[in-house]
Amino acid sequence: MKIILATNNKNKLREFREILAPKGYEVISQSEAGADIEADETGTTFEENAYIKAKAIYDMLHVPVIADDSGLEVDFLKGAPGVFSARYAEPGHRCERVLNELEGVPDAERTARFRCAICYIDAEGKSQYVSGSCEGRIGHERRGDNGFGYDPIFLYGDRTLAEMSADEKNAISHRGNAIKALCGIL
Ligand code: IMP
Repeated sequence: MKIILATNNKNKLREFREILAPKGYEVISQSEAGADIEADETGTTFEENAYIKAKAIYDMLHVPVIADDSGLEVDFLKGAPGVFSARYAEPGHRCERVLNELEGVPDAERTARFRCAICYIDAEGKSQYVSGSCEGRIGHERRGDNGFGYDPIFLYGDRTLAEMSADEKNAISHRGNAIKALCGIL
């Protein structure tokens, strides 16, 4: 089955492919499908933003589309950066902003989670949702070179997601969990 992924984020595309290709799904990026647009993420929840992104592509192509919206919730920051994760600071400075805001905060209060909502719109235009999360803590410095975004500061056990292989991250990540749920409804 071919499915369009409504994203311009190469890292997300890679993770979707890593998990869905072995299950027989061919994931095609929106640009490969000829839909080079960036929908405005005006929603207040991950689900709303996932729907906005999926619907924009569905309205252009009328084929099955998936979109994810994801982000980091830090308990000490009352859930920030949340839906603003991609816009929390200039590119390359987002991890530093979170680390600065948690300066001096003890380990027990550095709890956080990644969340991922996926919206699937089928060929008839019906939308369905699945979600996944990954509980962890914010470290005290960046560690590791793998992954993307906030992975170098997000500790799962005693390793950051950026210190894990792609397979290790996909097995426990918010996106990995959401994609497993997606396979149940595809
Ligand atoms: P959006 O879903 O395109 O709004 O972007 C979500 C943002 O959350 C990304 O740009 C990253 O900064 C962050 N994010 C989402 N998933 C991950 C992940 O798996 N690792 C690290 N950061 C992530």
